[in-house]
Amino acid sequence: MQPKVSKFGGTSVADADMIRKVKAIVAADADRRYVVPSAPGKRSKDDQKVTDLLYLCHEHARQGIAFDEVFTLIARRYSEIAEGLGVDPELQKHLEKVKQEIARVAADGGGPDYAASRGEYLNGLIIAEFLGAQFFDAAELIHFDERGKFDEDQTYRVIDEKLKGSQLAVVPGFYGSLPDGSIKTFSRGGSDITGAVVARGVGASLYENWTDVSGLLMADPRIVDNPKAIQTLTYRELRELAYMGATVLHDEAIFPVRHAGIPVNIRNTNRSDDPGTMIVPGNGSEKHTGTITGIAGRKDFTVIALEKAMMNSQVGYGRRVLSVLEDHGVSFEHLPSGIDTMSLVVADSQIDGKLKDVLEALRVEVHPDTIEATPQMALIATVGRGMSHIPGMAAKLFGALSEADINIRMIDQGSSELNIIVGIHADDFETAMRAIYKAFVG
Ligand code: ADP
Ligand code: ASP
Ligand code: MG
Repeated sequence: MQPKVSKFGGTSVADADMIRKVKAIVAADADRRYVVPSAPGKRSKDDQKVTDLLYLCHEHARQGIAFDEVFTLIARRYSEIAEGLGVDPELQKHLEKVKQEIARVAADGGGPDYAASRGEYLNGLIIAEFLGAQFFDAAELIHFDERGKFDEDQTYRVIDEKLKGSQLAVVPGFYGSLPDGSIKTFSRGGSDITGAVVARGVGASLYENWTDVSGLLMADPRIVDNPKAIQTLTYRELRELAYMGATVLHDEAIFPVRHAGIPVNIRNTNRSDDPGTMIVPGNGSEKHTGTITGIAGRKDFTVIALEKAMMNSQVGYGRRVLSVLEDHGVSFEHLPSGIDTMSLVVADSQIDGKLKDVLEALRVEVHPDTIEATPQMALIATVGRGMSHIPGMAAKLFGALSEADINIRMIDQGSSELNIIVGIHADDFETAMRAIYKAFVG
């Protein structure tokens, strides 16, 4: 039988009680042979994530401030977990070493990755002992190249060599190593990527992603009350939703499993009988259901709108606009254009501190008749199969927004037939999400 890979998110491994649920889930299916845990997450709404505390330790150490107090909070979390489970993987020794190394890395001018990664590392040691599983340090399995890019070739070669034969293994999520042996993490939420990489590496039949909701929901449950769960969707639909803010799965986690055609099952650790959401390859012949798959959105975008008469007939205009962005190291999200207009939608994280220079460079390079930057934009993607081809879908979407009195500042129905993206003011974000959900789902 091909094995299954089971990744457990922060809330699923936040304390001893949760880890007992993890053990029951793993024990219930002999194919669950690879377990990828996150660092302990929040136990309640106001709790702290261990990863956040570890970043804080690094930051204090970097500034030369004592971080004993914060570190004590972390040590206590792990001691409680280990005691609650009745295991001791020489925890005190490991904690002592981690504390020293955080100080050393910071003193050497290193980044926060080592500190951040220890959340999953320590939890992995405890969980491995509790499950009676073999512990693998992700630094030895997951590799990045000199420039910090994930090194697939080496990673899959090493996984094949070292991990594949294991009957029951724990691989901590979130991090790997650079060629010089130092630790490098994926971006936040990156344990999802580790799980996907392990799934591809061991040739899993299924990648299970255990979290605190019963699957991918049609909208963010923090905004829409009780949204319906999505039973099945394709990788492409998930990619659109995850990228646009359905953060239940890291948007980069799709690639390794999609490449190998491994389905993903999003499940709820607290309701392990719920079937959750299945994410499947899809063969392009999915039926148009006449409704949507889901809605997701993000805030913090800026739109730079350029207008120039006869823009369309000027050869190389678009290239010159984009080369200004390239020169400033800015990537763009969307590029809706009209006959005489072009809008650049960029994430604030890309343009912060550079906006003035970019506007000036655009003035010099492409001589627009007008140029205007609008900050505080939010984007909402309404995703569904054949979304932008089914007559009436767009009308319903725009109707819902107009009824809610929301001014649409940008529409991108562009190249993916899977979604329609609208740009609105950030203040309208929540109202717009609810209005769209109501119009399509009720
Ligand atoms: P984990 O720690 O298990 O990785 P995350 O916090 O990363 O979990 O992701 C799960 C959370 O994602 C949910 O608790 C929910 O608040 C949020 N979320 C946002 N959008 C969606 C959505 N469309 N469907 C389900 N959950 C969503
Ligand atoms: N612990 C890491 C974070 O908080 C990675 C993860 O949970 O996926 O971002
Ligand atoms: Mg997550």
